[in-house]
Amino acid sequence: MKKRRRGSTVFLGTVTVILAITVLFFFCKGRDIVQKSVDAALSQDDTRLSALQQQIDVLEKALAKMQEDADKKQRESEEKEAEWTKERESYEKQIADLKKQVLASKPIKSNTKSWAPAEGKVAYLTFDDGPSVNTDKILSILEEKDVKATWFVVGSGKDEELKRIYEAGHAIGLHTYSHDYAKCYKDEDSFYRDLDQIEQHVYDVIGIHSRIMRFPGGLSNRVSMKYNQGIMSRLAVGVLQRGYTFFDWNAANNDALTKEPPSKQELIDAVKTTVGTKNCVCILMHDSKSRYTTPDALPEIIDWLREQGYRFDVLTADMPYLAQTIAN
Ligand SMILES: [Zn+2]
Repeated sequence: MKKRRRGSTVFLGTVTVILAITVLFFFCKGRDIVQKSVDAALSQDDTRLSALQQQIDVLEKALAKMQEDADKKQRESEEKEAEWTKERESYEKQIADLKKQVLASKPIKSNTKSWAPAEGKVAYLTFDDGPSVNTDKILSILEEKDVKATWFVVGSGKDEELKRIYEAGHAIGLHTYSHDYAKCYKDEDSFYRDLDQIEQHVYDVIGIHSRIMRFPGGLSNRVSMKYNQGIMSRLAVGVLQRGYTFFDWNAANNDALTKEPPSKQELIDAVKTTVGTKNCVCILMHDSKSRYTTPDALPEIIDWLREQGYRFDVLTADMPYLAQTIAN
């Protein structure tokens, strides 16, 4: 009896152990399968990610190359454009020079009535002999009225004033360095030395080579007769040949005809009378210490010209010259 009970206990124990081993076996196997499938999935993700990364790398490289090509093309086209601009400017300069040669080979004609460098009604305000103590006053009036003018400068003015005129957008022309008739009109060499001197001075102060000029006393001056017979006729041709355009005037405020400066009203009236019915007017005025009434009359002169339908502009070297008669 006792022997039979022991036998069945051993049997049960064995079965239990076998069962336990089986369960453990399948448990371990199952865990392995799960682990393997997770690993497989992860490694699949890794492969996909690295494939994507490779694609990104390829695209980024292609983009960088495209950018590089585009930059290169832009640089090339900018260089090309700069070359063309340079070439065009050189041709324009050659044409302008040739035109001047042609002009200079013809006799200089008085053209104060027919002078028409632009369409419509245009007024070119010009100030001679500056800069001076009146320059700032004139500049602030022009700024307030939004008008650009042209200065024909001499060497005695202050550099800072010259800079201010230029920086305010006005045109700078040459009026000789000394404005000394005896010196300027002694002979041609003497005149060109003086003209070169003011040209260099303007270049030194504001960095431009001005190609517009006005003779001291104008082309029609008779003072020069005292120093050199016929010099104005020769200089008129000579400056054109040297590439300058000279400008006399066809209207004026007459501020320099008398020793004492005229009254404000006299200046305004002189402009009205001399402008008359002309379309293009180049108005002579002065920027000098002794012509101290000139700034006072300027606002009304500008207003009146506007009322008459004139716009304002500056003189440039590509315009036709403006000549009064040549008296010498
Ligand atoms: Zn002058």
